[in-house]
Amino acid sequence: MVSYDVIVVGAGPAGSVAASDCAAQGLKTLLLEKCLLPRDKPCGGAVMYRGISVLRGKIPADLVERRIYGMRFILPSGKSAEFVSDRLMGITTMRSEFDEYLARRAVDSGAELLEEARVVNARVTSDRAVTKLSDGRELNSRIIIGADGVNSIVSRSLGLRPERKDLSRVGLGMESDFHVGEDGVMEATHGRPYILEVAPVQGKVSYGWVFPKREHLGIGIAGAAVHMYPLRPAFDGFVSSVEKRLGLSLPAARRRTYFLGADGLHSRNVMDHAILVGDAAGFVDPMMGEGIAYAMRSGVFAAKVAARAAERGRYDGAFLSEYDTLCHKAFGSSFAMAAWAGMRGASFADFVLSRASGYRLASEVMVMLARGEIGYSDIPITVIRRLPRELPGILRHYLETRKDTAHRKSAG
Ligand SMILES: Cc1cc2nc3c(=O)[nH]c(=O)nc-3n(C[C@H](O)[C@H](O)[C@H](O)COP(=O)(O)OP(=O)(O)OC[C@H]3O[C@@H](n4cnc5c(N)ncnc54)[C@H](O)[C@@H]3O)c2cc1C
Repeated sequence: MVSYDVIVVGAGPAGSVAASDCAAQGLKTLLLEKCLLPRDKPCGGAVMYRGISVLRGKIPADLVERRIYGMRFILPSGKSAEFVSDRLMGITTMRSEFDEYLARRAVDSGAELLEEARVVNARVTSDRAVTKLSDGRELNSRIIIGADGVNSIVSRSLGLRPERKDLSRVGLGMESDFHVGEDGVMEATHGRPYILEVAPVQGKVSYGWVFPKREHLGIGIAGAAVHMYPLRPAFDGFVSSVEKRLGLSLPAARRRTYFLGADGLHSRNVMDHAILVGDAAGFVDPMMGEGIAYAMRSGVFAAKVAARAAERGRYDGAFLSEYDTLCHKAFGSSFAMAAWAGMRGASFADFVLSRASGYRLASEVMVMLARGEIGYSDIPITVIRRLPRELPGILRHYLETRKDTAHRKSAG
């Protein structure tokens, strides 16, 4: 007997959103989580609006650490580029609380949640997926959704990913939440706790960040895993540089290290009776390491395809591949463009961001990206379309900047 329409493995953002949407569409759904909730997840905790929009604006206020309206990039040249908008770009949150909320939301939608249920193996037969738990129990479903993160056992046991992680294809990060109190956050952000800051890190690490929370500063570094050893001196060096720059002293806090998924659209994420979502599928922006919103959206797509599969009684890989199509359409060109820009390195980012900084159009593009209204690959056409309207402002800003530079040169 097949007990469930869908078994979802992993109650992170991808799995909980998938389980919630499956249950809401009438599928008998089981959500398995190896930990007891709330559980910790090393993460900066910045959730872009395109992720929050999956929840249709219904996010409890106490989960919102800070509402985010801007990004600041401190560039390798020492200049900084800032993009602030009056439209919401996203929020910062504590992952343990945010993820627990999403899991409980899945239960409210009708999914069954089993905590402390570690999956050790998954396989598919001609008519079902079989999920094995560490206590030896085997559970049957028409579809298994692998949402068990970057170290996914589901993807490996189904043969969708190699047994050993290829370090050249994943990222690695270290982060910590430093408790500085609300006043400390205000001081560190110069009274603007609504801006996410990204900054360069010494050595081969790609970048670091300082994210404002209610009483904490979320500080971390990330980059390609293959370049990241040893991580701890780079992290400590970055934290010291932040202390020096912001003129504050950060209390000791627990450092947490974790891999980041990557390369999702170049790998197989679907087979008979199985779909991978979120980090298990590698859906992380290859330039910025952002993954929560993509995890949530891939969960929505997986549930949509699972519901159609149940309606038609079709669980074969060819039918489920509609999931691939939806993901490619939603993230494909953005991930490709991000990978392209990421390969050009910090000097490319420096060149582009320093020139775009201060222009209203650039801030507008940044907020549209964060809200999922456009992808990276839509940037050129968006700029061209808006250029005529923005031209007077652009010229004014350009002339003011030139006057400023000339003034500084003559004074110096
Ligand atoms: C240091 C760092 C900072 C980051 N900062 C950000 C950020 O600020 N913003 C952003 O958007 N992204 C960020 N990311 C990426 C983001 O954390 C991930 O993309 C996101 O968590 C993916 O969600 P997920 O649901 O796919 O996987 P996860 O959040 O990893 O959830 C997987 C779940 O599966 C469970 N699980 C695992 N194995 C099993 C098993 N065998 N059986 C049962 N359950 C299992 C886990 O316990 C977990 O609950 C960061 C990543 C790192 C490493």
